[in-house]
Amino acid sequence: MTAKEIRDSFKKYFESKEHAIVPSAPMVIKDDPTLMFTNAGMNQWKDIILGTRDPEPRRRADTQKCLRVSGKHNDLEEVGHDTYHHTMFEMLGNWSFGDYFKEGAIDMAWEYLVDVLKLNPEDLYVTVFEGSPEENIPRDDEAAKYWAKHVPEDHIINGNKHDNFWEMGDTGPCGPCSEIHVDSRTPEQKAASGKTGRELVNKDDPQVIEIWNLVFMQFNRKADGSLEKLSMNVIDTGMGFERLVRMLQGKHSNYDTDVFQPIIKKEEEITGLKYEAPLSSPEGDTNALKSNEAPSGAVGGAGDDMVSIAMRVCADHLRAVSFSIADGQLPGNAKAGYVIRRILRRAVRYAYTFLGQREAFLYKLLPTLVEEMGDAFPELKAQQQLIARVMKEEEDAFLRTLDKGIALLDKAMEEMRSKGAKELNGEQAFRMFDTYGFPLDLTELICRENGFTVNEEQFNVEMQKQKQRARNAAAVENSDWEELQAGEQQFVGYDYTEYTCHILRYRKVTQKKNTFYELVLDYTPFYGEMGGQVGDCGVLAGENETVEIIDSKRENGQTVHIVKELPKDPTAEFMACVDTDKRDASAANHTATHLLDYALKQVLGDHVEQKGSFVSPEVLRFDFSHFEKVSDEQLREVERMVNDMIRQDLPRDEHRDMPMDEAKKLGAIALFGEKYGDKVRVMRFGPSCELCGGIHTTSTGRIGFFKIISESSVAAGIRRIEARTGKECEELLYNIEDTLKAIKSFFNNAKDLQGVIQKYIEEHDHMKKEIESFQAQAVERYAKQLVERSREVNGVKVVNTVMPLEPAAAKDLAFKIKAAVGGSMLCVLGTSYQDKPQLTIMLSEDLVAEHGLNAGQIVREAAKLIQGGGGGQPHFAQAGGKNADGLSAAVDKAIEIALKSI
Ligand code: ATP
Ligand code: MG
Repeated sequence: MTAKEIRDSFKKYFESKEHAIVPSAPMVIKDDPTLMFTNAGMNQWKDIILGTRDPEPRRRADTQKCLRVSGKHNDLEEVGHDTYHHTMFEMLGNWSFGDYFKEGAIDMAWEYLVDVLKLNPEDLYVTVFEGSPEENIPRDDEAAKYWAKHVPEDHIINGNKHDNFWEMGDTGPCGPCSEIHVDSRTPEQKAASGKTGRELVNKDDPQVIEIWNLVFMQFNRKADGSLEKLSMNVIDTGMGFERLVRMLQGKHSNYDTDVFQPIIKKEEEITGLKYEAPLSSPEGDTNALKSNEAPSGAVGGAGDDMVSIAMRVCADHLRAVSFSIADGQLPGNAKAGYVIRRILRRAVRYAYTFLGQREAFLYKLLPTLVEEMGDAFPELKAQQQLIARVMKEEEDAFLRTLDKGIALLDKAMEEMRSKGAKELNGEQAFRMFDTYGFPLDLTELICRENGFTVNEEQFNVEMQKQKQRARNAAAVENSDWEELQAGEQQFVGYDYTEYTCHILRYRKVTQKKNTFYELVLDYTPFYGEMGGQVGDCGVLAGENETVEIIDSKRENGQTVHIVKELPKDPTAEFMACVDTDKRDASAANHTATHLLDYALKQVLGDHVEQKGSFVSPEVLRFDFSHFEKVSDEQLREVERMVNDMIRQDLPRDEHRDMPMDEAKKLGAIALFGEKYGDKVRVMRFGPSCELCGGIHTTSTGRIGFFKIISESSVAAGIRRIEARTGKECEELLYNIEDTLKAIKSFFNNAKDLQGVIQKYIEEHDHMKKEIESFQAQAVERYAKQLVERSREVNGVKVVNTVMPLEPAAAKDLAFKIKAAVGGSMLCVLGTSYQDKPQLTIMLSEDLVAEHGLNAGQIVREAAKLIQGGGGGQPHFAQAGGKNADGLSAAVDKAIEIALKSI
């Protein structure tokens, strides 16, 4: 079966079991402060599991794009060294929200793997939770009983809390889980090892690996650590698609399947190197360099050479980076952007070090990836050009950093050589990591090749220090939610800005010693930060007290209100009131963003696609794909078009619960990488039509006026426009007016301001030229006078003086003196300009060649008397200083030094 057929068969099987087949959520998560990337299929169902969203339909299945490179799941260091952990992978999953539980999940998993896919049951092992006496949780006998229907007892293995108890976080839903493992060793391997599959489960053997995890959520963990029963039992399963494909295609590495092979082939073609498949030739050892520090799970044997590892790393990271960019997350220097940058840099390092690639490489593999996966994931194909540009630019930039880092390391090794040292300081190694992105292994590798070692212990100490700093900065502590009333929140903010409400629940949050509270209300008009629009602020007004709501954000589909203090009586009835001035200003900016998007497409073309936006009461920012600077004329055209739509006062045409298909028919612009349900909200203003959950004005006229204030580049192929609307434009105009008035007053309020300024500039240029010519004449004269007044010592003319003079003129003077003398001479000038002393020394060539004098050395020594330093060539040198009073002495000193050698 091909990978595609396998993916389809999963969907088909669960569809036949009455599951709704749903699309993958984006891999990049935009509106969850606790998670940057989807790392498991269940992420998108978090709010259902927490009880804040309707669980219907209760049976669902999908394939979900996941990324495991940060936070709780971080497999980055394994990737490439082993053959079954990826950064980005597809997770096949099925869910039951309060429908079937352990028995149903186990039966279906078994039927699918064994009856449908025909995996050999003798190679399958399952684990069940052994229990935890200290927490008073018994062994999961229930799961064991259902497994026993399908597998013999010796294929059921007890597992500990680490492997077999799943928790959503420090608090929240949790429960035991059961994993399915496959023993994929060849018969020869089995015979040679003398170990049963059972003995190798969860032992990091690269041929006995977990493919499916069935999670049985039945508890809720509270902040004090105790467990209570969950109100709705949940089944959450996750199966690694690439691992499954490998088992079905009879391969011994995920990279040998049709998911990765085309990319690996392309790598071989570009680099001219050869990839070794694990187990392909057990004795094969053609690439001499072996992985020096293989993590657990490493291949062992063929395929364990650095060339093959590097090829796996690049093939894997290519996917992760491409899919992230397609989902709207570009590499950057903070947060999610930085995670993507790190992945890309890891690939560049491996390609540079082990595949000999000194130029951008990854982007050359992109066409192959698009060919293979573009059909299943149309976002890849649609954005191929952008992905390639961003990737190449990032690669180029990092290759330059690598070169710089290597030069620095060369210098450090040079110094060590001169000192006879053998070990690179750990602090230096850490600096290489921190500033140049050199992980320890790269620094070690380069050092080793030059006969040096690295002090790893010191490096680790520095690393720990940095981690601690980061931890201290980020530590957030949440208490349990205090439940005042049961129920779900209703958002009424599209229709109201004030609403009667009660607090459903609240909790305390402590961050960096600041304490605040988060409130969930039963009804709220507050829009929580989402989709680039900042959250509302306002007040919660009660009979006897009013508390300020300083911000609101969106979490698990609800608005969470942030307050500094709790109301004294949290159970009272309140009026939730949004600050409407701010909200109206935000709404105007948001609507203007839609008009801008429309106008840009008209003026620049259909390739323009939104890549990010930020909307606050003060500004709007809009990032979009476009490959060159937008010209001033084009910007004007866009502004005119938007302002025209504002003057037409186009009314808002809003559809709240439109089926996705209908919205598309209306021509609504949807973004790749956004998460939309089956029902969407469509926002139309005249020709502009977008899917959007944000707050908008009732008509475009309320925007007032629109003005772009800047256009710039944010990344390869991405431009950014910042603009202002309404009242902010008034302020902008006043600012311009005031500046202009001030300038006019400098020029006596001249009518023809441009003409007058032009005249001033011309006059200024003219005067400058005159001064320069006077100066040149004066220098000429000084030179003559000084030479006439000079003395001669042992046949050498000694010309010296102390005078006020511009630094550039001093150099000129020295050269003129040299020309005027024509023969053997020594010239020392002590000049000052605006209180800054300067020493200039000029020697004729014979003094340098025959007497071994060096102007640079002399100036360094003499400049000490003016508290300065400098240098230059053997025949000419200058030094600046701080102490003008020492000039005379410095001149004398320089002459003294020079004459000693004559
Ligand atoms: P492992 O112990 O192999 O790292 P896990 O315990 O982290 O796996 P789960 O979190 O239970 O895995 O994820 C469910 C399934 O997703 C696993 O059974 C596996 O098939 C797959 N999977 C997990 N991590 C990866 C990864 N980094 N690359 C590819 N597939 C993975
Ligand atoms: Mg894992």
